[in-house]
Amino acid sequence: MTETVAENTVASVHYTGTLPDSGEVFDSSEGRDPLTFLVGHRQMIPGFESNLMGAKVGERREFTLEPADAYGERDDEAVLQLPREQFAQLEQAEGTSLEVGMQLVAQMPHGPAPFLIKEVTEETVTADFNHALAGKSLTFSVEVVELRAASDEEIAHGHVHGPGGYDH
Ligand code: ZN
Repeated sequence: MTETVAENTVASVHYTGTLPDSGEVFDSSEGRDPLTFLVGHRQMIPGFESNLMGAKVGERREFTLEPADAYGERDDEAVLQLPREQFAQLEQAEGTSLEVGMQLVAQMPHGPAPFLIKEVTEETVTADFNHALAGKSLTFSVEVVELRAASDEEIAHGHVHGPGGYDH
């Protein structure tokens, strides 16, 4: 029997994330299945888990995270100027015109890396690889809807199996 959120429990939560300055909702599980995760295995941003430790089923918590406890500070070195010719294929094939604010995904050796176009000139495209929520404080309202102990296999794999998790 698992009573509270703790390391190696599987927690299912409903949540709504808002930007404290504007009140804008940036993400919410409302109308979807709850978010299910293995606690203590870095699946979530650090402050999200630490603020839920000890919560019981049915308990609701609201907290605001500084950027360091959320998606980190913005990194100026993650803003790159790329030669525009790298985008020639995309511009021709799709008939797409590159626009400021457009989100694209680069295929990098370690996997897909999403970025935002900040500026387009004849010669270069300025690409911002920072997470869209980097540098931002985030407010979460979270309700714990289900808790269970993780299996040995889940703990070994570092993720949840079954509903809301991996299917193997
Ligand atoms: Zn697994």
